[in-house]
Amino acid sequence: MSDQTSFNLLSFLTDFAVRLDAHGVILQASELSRTFLKYPASLTGEQISVFIQPEDMAAFLEAKEMAALIGEKQPFVCRLLRQHALHVWVDCHIYRLQGQDEYVFIAFDASHWKASEAKLAMLSTHDPLTQLPGRLLLDDRIRMGINNAVREKQGLALMLLDMDGFKKVNETLGHQAGDKLIKAIAQRMQGVIRRNDTLARIGGDEFALIMSVTGDDRKKGVEIIAKKLLAMAQRPFQIDGNDLYISVSIGIAIYLEHGDDPAALLRHAEIAMYNAKEQGRNRWELYDPRFDASKKGNLSLEAAMHEGIQNGEFLLHYQPVFCMQTGVLKGAEALMRWDRPGYGLVSPGKFIPLAESSGMIEILGSWALRMACHQAKLWQEAGVLDFYVSVNVSPSQFRKPGFADLVKNALDESGLAHSSLMLEITEGVLMNNPEKSNAILSGLRDAGVKIAIDDFGTGYSSLSYLKKFPLSVLKIDKSFVDDVPKCAEDVAIVSAVLNLAAGLGLKVVAEGVEVEGQLEFLKAKGCDLVQGFLTGKPMNAATFREKCIPCLP
Ligand code: C2E
Ligand code: CA
Ligand code: CA
Repeated sequence: MSDQTSFNLLSFLTDFAVRLDAHGVILQASELSRTFLKYPASLTGEQISVFIQPEDMAAFLEAKEMAALIGEKQPFVCRLLRQHALHVWVDCHIYRLQGQDEYVFIAFDASHWKASEAKLAMLSTHDPLTQLPGRLLLDDRIRMGINNAVREKQGLALMLLDMDGFKKVNETLGHQAGDKLIKAIAQRMQGVIRRNDTLARIGGDEFALIMSVTGDDRKKGVEIIAKKLLAMAQRPFQIDGNDLYISVSIGIAIYLEHGDDPAALLRHAEIAMYNAKEQGRNRWELYDPRFDASKKGNLSLEAAMHEGIQNGEFLLHYQPVFCMQTGVLKGAEALMRWDRPGYGLVSPGKFIPLAESSGMIEILGSWALRMACHQAKLWQEAGVLDFYVSVNVSPSQFRKPGFADLVKNALDESGLAHSSLMLEITEGVLMNNPEKSNAILSGLRDAGVKIAIDDFGTGYSSLSYLKKFPLSVLKIDKSFVDDVPKCAEDVAIVSAVLNLAAGLGLKVVAEGVEVEGQLEFLKAKGCDLVQGFLTGKPMNAATFREKCIPCLP
């Protein structure tokens, strides 16, 4: 069988199959490979390293070297990057084609067994770090607790405890310190609870306490323990020479009143716990059926988002930005969409706030950045000159250590010129910690990236700060554009912003331009750029190319 025939055959049998040259450049790729990675363009000509999780490159290189040395296929496991950012575990083989310095690299989707492996570890009976019962024993212990409570005619309460701000400890002091903190808090909790109660560790920083409650006033008994637990967490923890101040949020469900089986009690305790977090953390909440309507929706939305990320359901739409005076295409704003099965396209207004509060914005944000850079590079290569892409950056993303590196990596990976990327941030981000923000922005400016202030006018509107920061663009918020030229006040505001920007050497994008009258007014006032439904709604990449860059082959 020829190499070509074998490759075709492999293409049908595997999720991912590519032929590589000695330097890792993809010479040939199966059609399935592209769909597997949800990649918008051909893989041929790309470096394989672009598609491998950076931490796994060593495993890949080692297997490749061994394959060359021994002449046999080498198995290994790694993560491939979907849409440049979301990883998927794969089971791989690499072998060297005989007589040539070329390699065939094939992979099979291993996300299922990786997921079960993680689940198994989590479900294991005892948590190795704290020696407490793990998730697997929990249902069983709740059931035992219920039987016991019925027999002894006692009450039973299930408390879920989640540490507030644990992620920050992990991020700033490292996982080892995080582990020490978990151990320390588990020890302290054991000192607070009674011998017959069961404490379990059911997630990274989440604990469950099953306690029997005696006496007539069951809520009172629960309250005493909850208060003790809050107090125990508030005393500082000494970890690696640091005094760590943390707190916990507690959700409580009581047997029979809030559920008669482990699943119902757990669900309700969890809802109560989320409510405690939302009410400002460092507090406890007893389950109340009224929580359901709001919280259940969010919990399942969060779960669906997790799944959506895995399944590549997120995509970017692009809204064109034109030169107001000449009508020439100048750039595009990347706007995130979620193609949620059964719901259609979900707007970012619905999921970005949740992504922010749950931490998922990090992965989504970095994906959007990489994807947008890559797309802009493709359009530039196709011939649109002088074209920039603008990416929204959420406050938590901006403040996260390493944000500037994330941006630089996205640019390097895509090969996009640094000056073709604009980041959109809001005024609030600048004002929150002006010194720190300025340092981050200066770093980005030195790297050549442009910064735009989004929704300008709706935030602090403190104009003096504009000079202080290295900015390039102001985006006048749609709410000011809506009523020009009719409303005299808005006319005054827009005119003032345009004058101010001219004085500071900043360009202005007018957002949300919907009708000719607005466009005429802004144009006459000398506004530089326009973005709105009148000149183009947000659209997917294929439509964008068709409609906004039609002259290209
Ligand atoms: P934004 O940054 O102010 O984005 C502009 C929003 O105005 C977009 O809504 C766009 O579709 C809409 N728009 C543009 N022109 C017009 C117009 O003429 N009329 C009307 N009625 N609307 C117009 P969208 O796409 O729903 O995005 C909403 C917000 O979600 C964005 O507001 C942005 O704050 C956030 N967002 C979107 N994508 C991302 C992202 O990738 N990361 C982050 N952190 N936030 C994002
Ligand atoms: Ca924006
Ligand atoms: Ca805006």
